[in-house]
Amino acid sequence: MSLNVLFAAHLDRWPDYQKPLEDAFANAGLDVTLARDHAPETVDYIIYAPNGDLRDFTPFTKTKAVLSLWAGVESIVGNPTLTQPLTRMVDTGLERGMGEWVAGHVLRHHLGTDTHVLGQTGEWRPRVPPLAADRPVTILGLGALGQACGLALAHLGFPVTGWARSPKQVDGLKCISGMENLSLALNSAEILVLLLPFTAETENLLNQARIAELPKGVVIINPGRGPLIDDEALLAALDSGHISHATLDVFRVEPLPPDHPFWVHPKVTVTPHIAAETRPKSAAKIIAENIKRSEAGEPLLYLVDRSLGY
Ligand code: NAP
Repeated sequence: MSLNVLFAAHLDRWPDYQKPLEDAFANAGLDVTLARDHAPETVDYIIYAPNGDLRDFTPFTKTKAVLSLWAGVESIVGNPTLTQPLTRMVDTGLERGMGEWVAGHVLRHHLGTDTHVLGQTGEWRPRVPPLAADRPVTILGLGALGQACGLALAHLGFPVTGWARSPKQVDGLKCISGMENLSLALNSAEILVLLLPFTAETENLLNQARIAELPKGVVIINPGRGPLIDDEALLAALDSGHISHATLDVFRVEPLPPDHPFWVHPKVTVTPHIAAETRPKSAAKIIAENIKRSEAGEPLLYLVDRSLGY
């Protein structure tokens, strides 16, 4: 029997996803009719992204799971019409992209690239950076992306501490868990990377009090979600010099409004939510694998825990 799979991500992405998905379904031995416009009551699975139009899941009476193409699910997890199981995306393409973006921005600050390359003044002022081994980095969030970035940075020689909700063991990383140990993760960080999901518990996690626990001169890199940081507290700490720079890829409101102070602040780098993107070829395999599991009655991979919000 053929399964009806609805592609409910942004329609611009259909040309990128159609063939990889069809190939992945065929390789998984699944008989699937993939379309952008199945009648709702006939849909077995929904491939979802928040930038598509789908908001009301009520008419999808037979749908067995909603499979998100995005890692971050904060905009759908609380949707009261969504009663079906929801999975988030864990994708090697996302992990590699995030690892490259984070490593690039960590190295920019570690090496003093702005001073030595971009800020050339004709003055011979050698300032040799320390080795990576002498530049502790902390990553808040040690999930798929936090671990990928931690390992990439550890490979470059940085001592990396990762912090998560539950205890972890990752070779090459110092792992800390629980709110009671957050101070330990913060007070050693010369560079702090935020890779937490946006949930009720993580909103404004980096507030004035927590910023005060960071060493003076710390650099903040946020490819996680905008609301993880209290914007006012961040601006005040940049102005006082407690934080030396913030590289921000995500914001409370996106696109970042034209009059937002981040755009013109000399110690802020704004990037337009481009740190990492799900890659169709690798993601299609995950989608197919999850549909196969569901049809076989096996547990879904990367199931979102509604009570935790991620
Ligand atoms: P993930 O695998 O779910 O990992 C989330 C991590 O955060 C886990 O280690 C989790 O701890 C930890 N965490 C969650 N709530 C916590 C809390 N209250 N206290 C301490 N730790 C907590 O997610 P992921 O795939 O790594 O993605 C992380 C985030 O990156 C996404 O949610 C999204 O917001 C963002 N993202 C951004 C971009 C971009 O282009 N900028 C692209 C993709 C994703 P446990 O391990 O104990 O559960």
